[in-house]
Amino acid sequence: MDLRLSAEDLAFRDELRAFLRASLPAPLARRLRTGGKASPEELRAWTRTLADRGWSVPHWPVEWGGTGWSPLRQMIFRDEVQQFPAPEPLSFGASMVGPVIYTFGSQAQKERFLPRIARLDDWWCQGFSEPEAGSDLASLRTRAEPAEGGWRITGQKAWTSLGQHANWIFVLARTDRTAKKQNGISFFLVPMDSPGLKLVPTELIDGSHEVNELFFDDVFVPDENVVGELNKGWDYARFLLSNERTGQARVGLAKARLRRIRELAAAPPDGGPAPLDHPAFQRRLAELEVQALALETTLLRIVASGGGEEGEANPVSSILKLRGSELQQATAELLLDVAGPAALVWPYGPGEGAPLWGADAAPTYFNLRKLSIYGGANEIQRTIVARSILGL
Ligand SMILES: Cc1cc2nc3c(=O)[nH]c(=O)nc-3n(C[C@H](O)[C@H](O)[C@H](O)COP(=O)(O)OP(=O)(O)OC[C@H]3O[C@@H](n4cnc5c(N)ncnc54)[C@H](O)[C@@H]3O)c2cc1C
Repeated sequence: MDLRLSAEDLAFRDELRAFLRASLPAPLARRLRTGGKASPEELRAWTRTLADRGWSVPHWPVEWGGTGWSPLRQMIFRDEVQQFPAPEPLSFGASMVGPVIYTFGSQAQKERFLPRIARLDDWWCQGFSEPEAGSDLASLRTRAEPAEGGWRITGQKAWTSLGQHANWIFVLARTDRTAKKQNGISFFLVPMDSPGLKLVPTELIDGSHEVNELFFDDVFVPDENVVGELNKGWDYARFLLSNERTGQARVGLAKARLRRIRELAAAPPDGGPAPLDHPAFQRRLAELEVQALALETTLLRIVASGGGEEGEANPVSSILKLRGSELQQATAELLLDVAGPAALVWPYGPGEGAPLWGADAAPTYFNLRKLSIYGGANEIQRTIVARSILGL
């Protein structure tokens, strides 16, 4: 297999780079390069810039705003955005509920929601996990009872990422309590301002407010907001989770962090001894760079083989999730080691005269612990690989 990019693909990559250089506001670009984040307003503005160029949802069908790019071009696009780095489109809409709606939703749902997702006019969040239903998601207890013209949802969701910014949530709820547990679940689209819906923030180890608990108390949802067939929500959720996991390879982010580590380790901004002079450090860095290359090559092989069946959950996504999350965590750990005392400013802020260059290393290290948990914990991914790919 020839894994080199063709002249046309290289020209395409140059076009992307030129666009990113010209279009991403300079202060945001600087902040992202040193480990900072985009605010919700900046993410909205950036998604609209991408949408105006026709690039906010490149992987979608063309009739709903997609580009028609080959899988390889889509991969190049993701890689360039992650390496630049520029903000990636919000995954809850663009990569999770969007594909569920265009694959399984009604025409009315497609027309109503897809254009708004493509411009981030609607901010979606994910209501799957519950206090007693994480890895064993199918045992979820949130229930939807039939009501005049729709359903009434009651129950509790946990870990709802960025729910505080969202105006819509996609929710799994039990609609048949007599069926086998995977068969009695349906997929609902619910406005976050629905009466009876309450959001309670959960504070994380890095001090940030990223996740929430959600309480549903008799929340009314009209029939038109049920996606696809009733009691088929489990199939749609598996399809969605497989897309979520594929997106978690994020090899471009790992490459960008490794490049930053190499620069900092060669010449620490505080003028201290250079870690890159030590053979043990060189070896650690080289191992991670090789792992990034191996993951990238795996992605290219998957792209070259055409991926999985349309509308089907793809077990290969579990491999990408496993290796991608482990690599992200290992690179964050190495960055923390390189920063050393410069990382100690967390959580009190940089303070007067304190070095800024390592300030994001500790929050990033702690925050990325989540990667081996969400989207299905890594232990569960190993079981999927063993059963579905190795046939054990
Ligand atoms: C930061 C963060 C953000 C999240 N965002 C969202 C969100 O937006 N929406 C949403 O719906 N959910 C979200 N989640 C929830 C996430 O999907 C769950 O945390 C995850 O599925 C694990 O479930 P759990 O936390 O209940 O752990 P448990 O399922 O209780 O697992 C605990 C441990 O036991 C292991 N384990 C469990 N069962 C098995 C088994 N059969 N074999 C081997 N090991 C096993 C697990 O791997 C894990 O190590 C988020 C989680 C985090 C941490």
